[in-house]
Amino acid sequence: MGLALTERRPSPSGTTLLSCDGSSDQCAFNMTASTRPLTEQLSPDADGIARAVGLLADGRLVAFPTETVYGLGADGRSGRAVAALYAAKGRPAFNPLIAHVPDLEAASVEGRFGDDAMRLAEVFWPGPLTLVVPCRDKGRVCDLARAGLNTIGLRAPAHHLARAILKGCGFPVVAPSANLSGRISPTEANDVLCDLDGRIDAVVMGDRTEVGLESTIVSCLGDGPRLLRPG
Ligand code: AMP
Ligand code: MG
Repeated sequence: MGLALTERRPSPSGTTLLSCDGSSDQCAFNMTASTRPLTEQLSPDADGIARAVGLLADGRLVAFPTETVYGLGADGRSGRAVAALYAAKGRPAFNPLIAHVPDLEAASVEGRFGDDAMRLAEVFWPGPLTLVVPCRDKGRVCDLARAGLNTIGLRAPAHHLARAILKGCGFPVVAPSANLSGRISPTEANDVLCDLDGRIDAVVMGDRTEVGLESTIVSCLGDGPRLLRPG
């Protein structure tokens, strides 16, 4: 049949595919499946940041380090990108996503910060604290990312790569942990690849994350701050 095998690599579904020299119909089928691009590994520098920003702006999925764990980023404005993120993680769409922004000014475009939320943000941002506040009417984070709620979870992470990506994007980036739903949150780029290689478009290959635990979540909805999750 003239089937010359040239390489083995995992497919997006995790099974091993064979590619070949294209000299039969069977080969043509395998070539199509096996040439599907795998996850790009981006350098943790200006080039990698620029590529990550470009991909995110194009509605693609990019994992990057924060000071807590690696997050899987998507354009929070885009229902299509957010739907792809839920699918890549296997995360139920009724579990709302945290939107990441560079600072309080950007967060205030998306949510309404009362006195409590303002004070917490001023003290703990940038850092591993998520604040749940009422959504602004003109907030850009799509309904799907908020699971239809009229509240929004916002965080300004401290990690220099996350901050550079968020500043470059200029739009809110939803970023749950970059693992399959139900698995352990990744603290290294290689952990991300173990779970999501071929399921997402890129990962910024930064260092091991410092904290290793998800952000603390505090709700500030007018009835005093309430701890929703210790981080
Ligand atoms: P994570 O699983 O780390 O992505 O964190 C998501 C969690 O943040 C959700 O399960 C909620 O507890 C909280 N959260 C995110 N967005 C909202 C929101 N709009 N309203 C209330 N809680 C939220
Ligand atoms: Mg998680």
